[in-house]
Amino acid sequence: MRLRWTLALAFVALSMVQIAVVVPLALRNLNALLVSQQEARVDQLMITVEAEAQRLQGDVRRAMDELAASQALEDVARDAAKVPAPAHVTTAATSLMTPRGLDVLALVDDTGRTLSSGHLPARLGDPDDPLFAVTRRPAKAVVATRVELSSATGLISAPAIVTARAIDYGERRVWAIGGVLLTEARAKDLSRLTGARVSIKSAGEPAGAVDGATLATAGDAPPPIITRALPVGDVASIQLSFSQADLVATRSEVLRAFLGFAGVGLLLSIILGFAVSRRITSPVEALTDAAQKIAGGTPGVKVESGSASGELKSLIDTFNRMTDDLKNATDKLVASERIAAWQEVARRLAHEIKNPLTPIRMSLETLLAASQRGPLDDRFKGLFAESARAVLEEVDRLKRIVDEFSQFARLPRPELAQHDLADVVQPVMALYTSHDGITFNVALERGGLVSIDRDQVTQVLVNLIKNAEEAMSGKTGAIHVRIKPATEVILEVEDEGPGIPENLKARLFEPYVTTKPQGTGLGLAIAQRIMQEHGGRLEVADGAKGGALFRVSLPRVSPR
Ligand code: ADP
Repeated sequence: MRLRWTLALAFVALSMVQIAVVVPLALRNLNALLVSQQEARVDQLMITVEAEAQRLQGDVRRAMDELAASQALEDVARDAAKVPAPAHVTTAATSLMTPRGLDVLALVDDTGRTLSSGHLPARLGDPDDPLFAVTRRPAKAVVATRVELSSATGLISAPAIVTARAIDYGERRVWAIGGVLLTEARAKDLSRLTGARVSIKSAGEPAGAVDGATLATAGDAPPPIITRALPVGDVASIQLSFSQADLVATRSEVLRAFLGFAGVGLLLSIILGFAVSRRITSPVEALTDAAQKIAGGTPGVKVESGSASGELKSLIDTFNRMTDDLKNATDKLVASERIAAWQEVARRLAHEIKNPLTPIRMSLETLLAASQRGPLDDRFKGLFAESARAVLEEVDRLKRIVDEFSQFARLPRPELAQHDLADVVQPVMALYTSHDGITFNVALERGGLVSIDRDQVTQVLVNLIKNAEEAMSGKTGAIHVRIKPATEVILEVEDEGPGIPENLKARLFEPYVTTKPQGTGLGLAIAQRIMQEHGGRLEVADGAKGGALFRVSLPRVSPR
């Protein structure tokens, strides 16, 4: 992976790790805070509820104190002693109860017999044991008890808070036991006060009844809820359900906000990561590119230090100095190599020129000697014709050597243009037809785009085919010409001749290496130089049928 991506990904991963650690931690803390706040609020409301219960008890106590001190009750107590009791005594409880805001009021004699009942007039004359039990509790205590009432479904037992007061009239004692019922109206009051759903549930029901039955409910609490209960003596409990829906909504809102922030943070870190990694890696990439170019043979490539600073800048400066040094060294090396190469060429050229000079000199010396011997007779004429032919032949050879040498020495710079190599080779191969037992087997794959001097590459091809034909003279067989476009575009010329002599292989491309009587040994040297000037290669290998295989490799280019 490229350094830039690796660095950018590292930045992103780092910020993701941070987000992964920070977000859940922050959310957990926030959640704990919200929950504890909610619980504190609920605790506060429960205190309010308890205060309300106290207030209700206070109301009951005050109402009963006021009743106990009233003239009206004293009158009733007095009349209750009469036998038979006057009729108004039996209804007295109702008229005493209602104006004092009480739901329950019973007047009971000392034996527990009901003299008058406001909440259950039918009780008259009967004992009301649970209610009478209140009289044996500590004086004036407000207690929770179960009170029997008549309802549409018959006799029911409802929780109430009551208190008892004794009214003594002479010898007789009358009890007034009164209080309030825990009704739906009370549940509604509490619900209004707390915002919770309030249920009044019975507890410690007498045998047969359902313990925990809901007696009254008010308010609404969408889930999820926290529930708290407040016992009312041992007869009922007030259950308050506080909705947590707000908390959940707040929590998910915070979560959304957090995720939003995390997303924005991540985006920023991606952008920042790319920006920073670009800043760090672009000089490194420039260095890599430059190093690759130098390795590929382009000398003296420089890197702009641009925005780089610190170590990167000094690295670039050092690199540039090194490429300068390298270029200078390479230039010197190339120059001295070139001199050495030309010295070698000159040496061989001199040798080649010397070869024809010897027969020329010998011919002329023979002629000179013959002419000095006597008159120019017929024998001399014959000798002259023979020598002149030999001299002309050698002069021709000299001319050929000089012509090819000047071509080798003044090889023009290639004029490059883009071609599909098949389009260059095809028209050349069209000129070749089978002859003297030699056939041509041409397989040109298209699509190998190259940047070449068409004439020079044609010259290379013609040269290779000429060599192949010469190697195969007197034999039958095929010359194979192929194009294979790959990462490089390959052109192969393979023959079925005797192949390259082993002792020649190493020197094959050197100038003046030839095995042919009329050869100059410059053909392959020129071909290889042309390929080098094209940034390509010319190599030799063994053909499949023992012949020679010359392989031209050219850099493949993409269309402009
Ligand atoms: P020239 O053809 O003038 O000799 P070249 O440089 O073209 O010069 O070839 C150099 C030598 O390489 C040839 O003389 C020959 O010995 C050898 N050679 C070239 N091509 C082939 C081939 N296809 N098969 C065998 N030998 C070859």
